[in-house]
Amino acid sequence: MNDFSILINAVYVICTLLFIFGLKLLGHPSTARKGNLLSALAMLVGVVVTLLDRSIISFELILASIVVGSAIGVFAAKKVAMTSMPELVSLFNGVGGLASLAIAYAAIISESQLSYFVLFVSYLALLIGAVTFSGSIVAWAKLSERIVGRPIVFKGQAFANVALIIAICVVGYLVITQPELTTWHYLAIGLALLMGVMLVLPIGGADMPVVISLLNSYSGLAACAAGFALENNLLIVAGALVGASGIILTNIMCKAMNRSLVNVLTSGFKAVVTNDIKIEGEIKPLSADDAFFVLEAAQSVLVIPGYGLAVAQAQHAMKELQEILEKNGAEVAYAIHPVAGRMPGHMNVLLAEADVSYEQLFEMDDVNPQIAHYDVAIVIGANDVVNPAAREMQGSPIYGMPVINADLAKNVFVLKRGMATGFAGIDNPLFFKPNCRMIFGDAKETLNKLVHQFAD
Ligand code: NDP
Repeated sequence: MNDFSILINAVYVICTLLFIFGLKLLGHPSTARKGNLLSALAMLVGVVVTLLDRSIISFELILASIVVGSAIGVFAAKKVAMTSMPELVSLFNGVGGLASLAIAYAAIISESQLSYFVLFVSYLALLIGAVTFSGSIVAWAKLSERIVGRPIVFKGQAFANVALIIAICVVGYLVITQPELTTWHYLAIGLALLMGVMLVLPIGGADMPVVISLLNSYSGLAACAAGFALENNLLIVAGALVGASGIILTNIMCKAMNRSLVNVLTSGFKAVVTNDIKIEGEIKPLSADDAFFVLEAAQSVLVIPGYGLAVAQAQHAMKELQEILEKNGAEVAYAIHPVAGRMPGHMNVLLAEADVSYEQLFEMDDVNPQIAHYDVAIVIGANDVVNPAAREMQGSPIYGMPVINADLAKNVFVLKRGMATGFAGIDNPLFFKPNCRMIFGDAKETLNKLVHQFAD
């Protein structure tokens, strides 16, 4: 190792420490922005140093790619609606996988004499990269409703998957032993792309967030393998960090939905979503005018936001109502379910945008034991995450999923437009409970009406 590469690796170590510190800061909403900036800075330094280190073939091509990539990235990030964020994340994962695929392919076809180890890791990078790419495209198509969102299953699927895995292993052996034969490369890429499609097709409905997070982890693993292929220490570490954090998030989400990962990945083969459970009770609509009187007298109010808050963009109206309720002497808290909305942290992002204090946000496990003490629980566009069927109805598809027990509050107001189901597509017995009142209409409009009532 010459002095220059020692210096480069020393900078890589500093970048690694910054990545790890950045990840730590991402663990709390108040420091997350700083963590993001720090990690981005580390990545920038890493890229610049790598450009100095390697024998670059064409700086012009790199510059052109940076300009085009940045323009697309800035445009996409600015244009995307908050409700479409999961689709964008899915595309980003896919592009990450594609990059690793390209790196691995370039390594395999390079004219230098590669060791079996480098060929093996290059094949792994190509494989995982291609699976990530095609899997993410299918996930994106499902989330954006370009194809049906439910699990797509067909006869003989499990058999086809086993045959595919065997073919991938055989072709892998051929790529490693005969790297000069391009036929194997194309076959390997084709099979891996097909594997990605086969992996995501049988998954659907409420399991999609888990898949997105898993694909995120795959994109990290692909980058890690590409790092080995290029013998770039920073890419190995950065890939491993993405892979590990992706799998931790996947695990957290599986727990939040009371599923095991194996169950999520294979449930499409067995799952039959039933929605024929009889619900007792009746729907009791309430006007915003009448709800005002209850809220005026409330000493404690728990706000439970869900996907509808994002659709209605009602976070600012809610913050306004929160301030009025507090002035009126009530204590206001927010209960956040880990999979409320359509992406991890969706509610936290929305509420942070409206300057709701982090101290007022409580996790499901902290809120549930206290929930019976709240005078009013206001459910804003949440459905699945407050569905008591998860506790009460053994035959329900979400039975066993941890939910926020809104139905145990003294009074429950549900703000939604009609009786549509949530993402899981199942009815909600909460709406029929004696202590529950439905305030129909767009959540933002309802909240604005309540704010005006207090002002008058
Ligand atoms: P849900 O999808 O269960 O329910 C959202 C509700 O919001 C709907 O019932 C809808 O009813 C209502 N709504 C929509 N627009 C408005 C509006 N403008 N004003 C008022 N209400 C509105 O949301 P939850 O947050 O409770 O649950 C999230 C679900 O999504 C879970 O099943 C989760 O597993 C899944 N998921 C979560 C992801 C994540 O990472 N967080 C990612 C992907 C899926 P109506 O049309 O009648 O108004």
